[in-house]
This record gives sequence, structure tokens and C-alpha cells, in this order.
Amino acid sequence: MKTYRIAMVPGDGIGKEVIPAGQRVLEALAAAESSFQFEFENFAWGGDYYRQHGEMMPANGLDALRAKDAILFGSAGDPHIPDHITLWGLRLKICQGLDQYANVRPTRILPGIDAPLKRCRAEDLNWVIVRENTEGEYSGAGGRVHQGLPIEVATDLSVMTHAGVERIQRFGFRLAQSRPRKLLTLVTKSNAQRHAMVMWDEIAAQVAREFPDVTWDKEMVDAATARMVNRPASLDTIVATNLHADILSDLAAALAGSLGIGPTANINPERVYPSMFEPIHGSAFDIMGKGLANPVGTFWSVVMMLEHLGQMDAARRVMQAIEHVTANPRLHTRDLGGTATTAEVTAAVCAEIGATAGKPLTTV
Ligand code: NAD
Ligand code: MN
Repeated sequence: MKTYRIAMVPGDGIGKEVIPAGQRVLEALAAAESSFQFEFENFAWGGDYYRQHGEMMPANGLDALRAKDAILFGSAGDPHIPDHITLWGLRLKICQGLDQYANVRPTRILPGIDAPLKRCRAEDLNWVIVRENTEGEYSGAGGRVHQGLPIEVATDLSVMTHAGVERIQRFGFRLAQSRPRKLLTLVTKSNAQRHAMVMWDEIAAQVAREFPDVTWDKEMVDAATARMVNRPASLDTIVATNLHADILSDLAAALAGSLGIGPTANINPERVYPSMFEPIHGSAFDIMGKGLANPVGTFWSVVMMLEHLGQMDAARRVMQAIEHVTANPRLHTRDLGGTATTAEVTAAVCAEIGATAGKPLTTV
């Protein structure tokens, strides 16, 4: 029997609630499967670790992760520690250190979810946002000079490398090619940012030649936000820089019903290093410890993890269980207008996985 070694990094806030829920779903799946099992190792990194050790994770922490088949991550962010310390000390350290350069964020309106756009049918909104995940606006280059003095100067330098841009755009085109519509929109801001973003556009035009069957267009990031709201069906695969995609994917999640639903995969496509899967939401300080966290974003991330591990049937089985549960408004958490708790939603998804074990998958 195949054993997958999974690192669990719950992090902070509701990460500590939704990641154990994700583990329960994987355990329910393993109980229903005979061909594979999971070996979990928990890494208690994050704000509490920082208070004890002065860093978010140990300096050699990446070594422990390298030995895993995949990582399930919750959230980094603590009400008492500055956000740039928690983000850079944990999540970015892992994504950049393990060269997970493709951040993939699918968005769909799941059954039973009341999404905010009035004229948008569920089939009109089926996007996947591809976010450059290792450089650009998040390169970390820059600094502060004359700190604390009236003449203080601060810079954040966006760094785009030809190799980095080319590999994320090729990943995006390949993904677009694998989807039924073969449609790609490149998000840019080359009217205002006249160096790196112009190179970004030029490289896209070159990469596009390798994919003659993919239809593609270009949209400025500001216009892209309006297009997502006004013409959602005109979009399918969206490729954008680190910062642009970060913002667009929160908008996408909100348009699909809730930030609590959206999943993410941080992929190292060459599979030299393990990839990392996480809900797109953060630590949600306002609801932590109350059992109100929607675990669906984590469960959908688990689906992406199973797909990455090549367990396509298992991935579809878990996705069907999730959709079975979202279709029932009594199993909606508060962010979706319901009263269900994290534990109730988790139990329902696990029960559905158990109930459908061994039965044929319904075709989607
Ligand atoms: P957030 O995603 O934590 O919360 C935004 C709003 O959405 C809150 O009202 C919250 O209650 C709600 N929400 C989020 N997830 C939910 C869920 N699963 N179920 C129900 N409601 C949910 O974003 P924020 O408030 O901007 O950030 C809080 C902290 O999290 C900050 O420290 C931030 O840096 C961090 N953060 C981390 C990540 C990450 O690690 N990937 C991502 C975003 C934010
Ligand atoms: Mn974000």
C-alpha cells in the first residue's frame, strides 16, 4: 500500500481549527481506501513558536519539509506580531525556499452557495487564477534609510526575472490548454509600469506561440477587477503577478460566496520539492477559537493535494462530498449565512466520504 507523508502546518488563528479538520477528512478517506494511506507529521510553527524561540519556524525547518510528499498549511498571522514578520517568517519562507513558484487558485460557485453577483449563473464563474509565487512585488528587495528621521526613505523593489516570468506564464498556458475552454487572460499594468511589466507582456507573446490552440488576451489589472464583476463568463485561466493575483483572488473568492471556501496550491511543478496546499483565507482573528471557521477552503485544498499526488478518483470523491455538504444550507457556517460549526461541517463531509466509499463516482 502506498503511504503519503504529509506535513501539517496549522500556523495561527483558525489555521489551528481548519487543518485538524482537513486531517480528519484525509483520515476518513484513507479509511475508505485500500490503495493508499497517510502518515502525518504536525509542525507547531507560527506565532506561539515565535514567542518562545524568536522565529516563526526553526532555521532548518525546510529540511524536515523536503522529505514530505506534500504540505497542508493553515495560516500565518498573529494579533500580537506584525504581519510582515509572520508572513515572511513562515509562509513565504516555505513557498520561496521550496521554489513553489506556481500558486494556483481555482474559483467556482459551489452548489447551495448564494453568491453576490445578481446576473451571474454558477456556470458563468469557473476560473483558475495562476499567481507568480516567488518574486515580483514580493521579492523582499528594498530597504529603509534614515529610519525614524524626518528624511526617512523606504523602498519595496519589484523584481521580475526573465526566467521567473517565462516559467509562470508557460505554466499558465499549459493549464489553460488542459481546460475545456483553452482561454487565457494575462493581467498586466504595462501602461504605468514601463519596465518589468513591459517585459512581462513581451514574454507572454513569445510563450503564447508555443500554444497555438490557446486563445489569449491581455487586461490591465484595474480593468480586470471590473471585468470579473461585469463579464465573469469571459474569463477562464488568469495569469498575474504575485501582488496582482493576490488581490484578484480575494475578489474572486468573495464573488464565489466566501473567503472561507477558496483553496490554493503552491506548486513546484518540477517536483524537486514538495508542494503546499492551503485555504486562501488568513488567521481570521475575529472568529478564532469559536468553532465558526468554514473548513471548506481547507477541504478543497485537500482535493488539490490529492490531484497533485495523482489520486484523481479520491480527489473527485472528496470534492463530491464537499459539494454534497455545501448544497445543504443547514450545513453552512456563519460566513455563508448559516449556523453550522466547523465540527459539524467536518463530520458531514467525513460521513459522506464514508457513505460513498466503494460506490462508483457520479460523473461530473
Ligand atoms: P482573513 O482571511 O483572516 O479574514 C478576513 C475576513 O474573512 C474575516 O472577517 C474573517 O472572519 C473571514 N474569514 C476568513 N476565513 C474564514 C473562514 N474560513 N470561515 C469564516 N470566515 C472566514 O484576513 P485578514 O483579516 O486580512 O488577516 C488576518 C491575519 O491573517 C493577518 O495576520 C494576515 O496577515 C493573515 N493572513 C495570512 C494568510 C496566509 O497565511 N496565507 C492569508 C491572508 C491573511
Ligand atoms: Mn492574500
